[in-house]
Amino acid sequence: LINQFNQKAKNDIAEKLSSKESFVIFKKIDGKVISATFYSIKNLIQNRHVGFIVSYEEDNTFSIFEKTFLTALGFLFALLIIINVFIFYILKLKKVAEEKAITDKLTGLFNRNIIDSLIEIEYERSKRTGKPISVILFDIDHFKKINDTYGHDKGDYVLKTVAQIARKTLRKSDYIIRWGGEEFLIILPETDLKGAITVAEKIRQNVENFYFKDISKVTVSLGVTQIKKNENLENAIKRADQALYLAKNKGRNRVEFIY
Ligand code: GH3
Ligand code: MG
Ligand code: MG
Repeated sequence: LINQFNQKAKNDIAEKLSSKESFVIFKKIDGKVISATFYSIKNLIQNRHVGFIVSYEEDNTFSIFEKTFLTALGFLFALLIIINVFIFYILKLKKVAEEKAITDKLTGLFNRNIIDSLIEIEYERSKRTGKPISVILFDIDHFKKINDTYGHDKGDYVLKTVAQIARKTLRKSDYIIRWGGEEFLIILPETDLKGAITVAEKIRQNVENFYFKDISKVTVSLGVTQIKKNENLENAIKRADQALYLAKNKGRNRVEFIY
């Protein structure tokens, strides 16, 4: 081991010997850290350097340091992974909670909580593109009778199915919100009154033509309007509600609109 060490450290030793001061040299041999300490010997009369005593030792300081360092690094790495997984999980939980907050349990549609963010985004878009937004409010006809005749569960089935039919009739970029018990609000971005009436009529037909198990036929009445420049949503919904009222009065299963 000493021979190997001397071979490897030859140049370093030669360089340092001339300083005539004590020094230490480390070399790694066969995976072990070996140190050679050169003790400078001085005579006591003139304090003159007369030679060196050399001691060779296997040095644990480095290997312990190395081991500790690697262990710490491993722990740190594991900790980072755990923190990452934790953050991922928290973010996912947050997203689920946020989605839950704006989702109607029964139908899976949006609930009223979506309105504020919806308005912010779509009013901004409308301002930028100059294209109008239209609104449809619709309500299931004689729903109370369906509940009374077939039971609450069948009523829920009708609600879910009507929601699905309307959702499928709409574009992905349209919003449909469960507004009340059996009342739905649809917001159509980049759509004028004429386009909205067409959409409403399609929903009316698709519901009318659907075969509801045990009940056969269910119909809806729809009120349509276009949001005016600088008008708030609340006002437009009131107008859509008046149109819906007209549709109910004129015999149900129909679309009415107000400019
Ligand atoms: P119209 O044609 O004039 O709209 O008559 P309607 O019977 O549909 O109107 P009404 O407002 O009198 O009835 C609404 C019914 O909707 C009453 C209520 O019990 C029922 N309802 C509200 N929410 C739910 C629900 O989540 N599930 C069920 N099954 N029924 C509901
Ligand atoms: Mg109704
Ligand atoms: Mg109603």
